[in-house]
Amino acid sequence: MVERLKNFIGGQWVESSAASTIPVHNPATCELLAECPDSTRADVDAAVRAASAAYDDWRRTPVLSRAQYMYRFKALLEDRFEDLANTVVRENGKTKDEARGEVRRGIESVDFAASVPTIMRGYKVEDISSGIDETAERQPLGVFAAITPFNFPMMVPLWFLPTAITCGNTYVVKPSPQTPLSMQLVYELLEELDLPEGVVNLVHGGREASMAVMEHPDVVGVSFVGSTPVAKIVYETCAKHGKRVQAQGGAKNYIAVMPDANIEASVANIMGSAFGCAGQRCLAGSVVVAVGDAYEPLRNELVKRAGMLRVGYGLNESTQMGTVISAAAKERINSLIEQGVTEGAQPVLDGRGIRVDGFEDGSFVGPTILDGVEPDMTVAKEEIFGPVLSIMHAPDFDSAVDMINQSRYGNAASIFTSSGKYAREFKYRVRAGNIGINVGVAAATASFPFGGQKESFFGDLHGQGPDSIEFFTDRKILIERWL
Ligand code: NAD
Repeated sequence: MVERLKNFIGGQWVESSAASTIPVHNPATCELLAECPDSTRADVDAAVRAASAAYDDWRRTPVLSRAQYMYRFKALLEDRFEDLANTVVRENGKTKDEARGEVRRGIESVDFAASVPTIMRGYKVEDISSGIDETAERQPLGVFAAITPFNFPMMVPLWFLPTAITCGNTYVVKPSPQTPLSMQLVYELLEELDLPEGVVNLVHGGREASMAVMEHPDVVGVSFVGSTPVAKIVYETCAKHGKRVQAQGGAKNYIAVMPDANIEASVANIMGSAFGCAGQRCLAGSVVVAVGDAYEPLRNELVKRAGMLRVGYGLNESTQMGTVISAAAKERINSLIEQGVTEGAQPVLDGRGIRVDGFEDGSFVGPTILDGVEPDMTVAKEEIFGPVLSIMHAPDFDSAVDMINQSRYGNAASIFTSSGKYAREFKYRVRAGNIGINVGVAAATASFPFGGQKESFFGDLHGQGPDSIEFFTDRKILIERWL
């Protein structure tokens, strides 16, 4: 019989009180991997109470000792590196190399957290008035929580949890019910760390568990990563309940290619951006804007290279592109391609009918390129979150920037060019949180903040880097006079 997952609360693996479960499938083989409980408010309450109870002692644990857990956590993650990558592939469908990249990025966030004793320092000014000193010191705040998406089931929770707890907070993760197994394994490793009971907690589930986290009076802040409609709900709900919130939403990332770009090298890079993780990255390039004469050579090279990608099961090392997350996602992506064609785009590469030998029922969508896309078409505006690249044609640089800035999203944008002038103008004028210059996936490393603009992000402080220290601590002001 398939395993019904347990929650990790107060240092114990406990059954959820949920009456129902959500099946977790391998999207390539269709194997039923586990049943994920649709945890209830009572489950979330138990987790938050355990985290609250642990907070005071954990906060008093010296920060250097808290950081020592991160070194041991990193060692455990390194020991189980391949198991972690395999788990990501099995539940998510990406390729083995992509999963390895994800695990590596997750570990880099643990590295960053180990530096918390240095970076959570406060500051002081003597004699702010005669004989009076003023200090700003950083303090943790209590129980924080993360609500995370399916597409990076290992990495995204690790953007938050390690830094949050090393700052002295306690934590609850509510992963995606589509991909709960990566966190299940990570929490087995956290259990080996022998952290005090209740410092880290895991509650599986869907909407009800998310709402319970956001509405719980003892949760002080929520980090959310997911789609824009849900990010809006999270931002509003957390604000209504007086919580800190950072809500990272969906994306529609544009890539401009100038006529002066090296087309072959650019396309090699754009392949990874558009079709890496089967297009299910919040930084995935989704629309290429070919500027002027770049259009024809660019389109031909894109179609040629994308048509050569080997699509298959992620655990086969030769696979270059895996599945999308589910049969429902496949259907949604295929219908958006259809809508693009109905609205006038030309499918110069059509991945809808793809068959992968041995995995006939898998959720595969082949690389797809739609040419002749116009700014008002659905495929130019909506997040597709699949291996679909649209090509638009702009007469010049200024029109390309205008097309990009029309988008309601602003997660990332890239330009391929050999001109420093265009590169600078692009960075200066394009309204997106992450800009790539001759780089298709402009992913911030763990010591830099990561977040988008416009409808790709709701909040002030981004995830990762110095922003995360701001988010997970408060600055208390101390004014001292000794008579
Ligand atoms: P999603 O919004 O469907 O789900 C994200 C999380 O929210 C899950 O844990 C889910 O259980 C929960 N949830 C879903 N509906 C909810 C509701 N109505 N109320 C409360 N909670 C709810 O996202 P997904 O499909 O898992 O992930 C893909 C999306 O995430 C894409 O839009 C992608 O662009 C985005 N994403 C953004 C970033 C970023 O940094 N901006 C990073 C990764 C993914």
